[in-house]
Amino acid sequence: VSTWSHIPAGPPDPILGVTEAFKADTSAKKINLGVGAYRDENGKPYVLPSVQKAEQILTGKKLDKEYLPITGLAEFTREAVKLAYGVDSVPLKENRIAVTQSISGTGALRVGGAFIARHYPHENRKIIYIPKPSWGNHTPVFRDSGLEVRGYRYFNKATVGLDFAGLKEDLRAAPERSIVLLHACAHNPTGVDPTPEQWKEISDIVQEKQLFPFFDMAYQGFASGSTSRDAFAVRYFVEQGHQIALAQSFAKNMGLYGERVGAFSLVTADPAERARVDSQIKIVVRPMYSNPPLHGAHIAATILSNPDIYAQWEQEVKGMAERIISMRDKLYNALTHDLGTPGKWDHIKSQIGMFRQVVPAISFTGLTADQTKALAEKAHVYMTADGRISMAGLNNSNIGYFAESVHKAVK
Ligand code: PMP
Repeated sequence: VSTWSHIPAGPPDPILGVTEAFKADTSAKKINLGVGAYRDENGKPYVLPSVQKAEQILTGKKLDKEYLPITGLAEFTREAVKLAYGVDSVPLKENRIAVTQSISGTGALRVGGAFIARHYPHENRKIIYIPKPSWGNHTPVFRDSGLEVRGYRYFNKATVGLDFAGLKEDLRAAPERSIVLLHACAHNPTGVDPTPEQWKEISDIVQEKQLFPFFDMAYQGFASGSTSRDAFAVRYFVEQGHQIALAQSFAKNMGLYGERVGAFSLVTADPAERARVDSQIKIVVRPMYSNPPLHGAHIAATILSNPDIYAQWEQEVKGMAERIISMRDKLYNALTHDLGTPGKWDHIKSQIGMFRQVVPAISFTGLTADQTKALAEKAHVYMTADGRISMAGLNNSNIGYFAESVHKAVK
């Protein structure tokens, strides 16, 4: 008998499973709105011209393939923290931000989770509160890191907006010194972000309750089109004196998905503490994967450190954000004005970033999860089972068909 005969089949990944179903569909009309990867106007993957430029420069340099240090490429991590915290950041100037390159955003969360599980000083407070709902991988990442995962209210289905009262109540009710995960911008999967005023109130509660804020910033630039505007919450918390943890990803804003470029950082008290923390981050990383991949970090570092390419990249991020925003407006207009689809669709316009939660609006009119499935089977339109769609999958050629399919599903 095989050693592994007792192993039961695990459930398919809720997001990547959608892509599998999409690939198997032979219809010419098919649309994949499942996975959160940017697509250009022709529905094709998009390699940013700034990335191509950086790659040309790198090819010319004929770099070797030696290992990076455990915490990655120093030119990259230096630029990554500058992008997130801002050039005027006080802890940055005072050289007290500990940072490591990571295997994209997921790896940053995982290294951060493991570091906190090992070193967070409040033994019975290794509890991380994540929003309800949150990115589907947050729970397993933090659970596998050794933290207890709990939820705080975030999304109000009735308004298809932020449940700010619930959020405040839950954070106030959390045990003091618990850890709280905050999506820095473009909340996934709801597309709903707190306003600057609401962020200030959240910061006050975090202060009062001595919570430890862990920011996940996977979409810097995607919410507003401006990387600095999208860093508002992170920078505000740091200005208020919070010692934050931060996971960054360059998958979306540089389109470097498969290159796995990210960073994990922690604000510390002074350079000596920073050096001690850095040394312990190395001890967390070394047995996990030894050191991070080379190529993507070189691309990101080249873009971020070269003023001309940097300016070009900022424009390209803005272009991606604007195309998403224009699809949002078109979808709203198609449903409300052209088709007169039952239900309220205002949230499509007011939500931020790449994801739109369409199920709450559809479910007002009685569409069930089975009907979402029917949308895939009958109309060849694929989205995650919770009704999340990636707006970037829409373009001028397919948006009309998508709107009509939603309209039929709702009616
Ligand atoms: N956090 C959030 C909220 C995300 O949506 C994602 C990507 N879907 C990630 C982290 C991590 O992605 P990656 O590991 O590809 O950077």
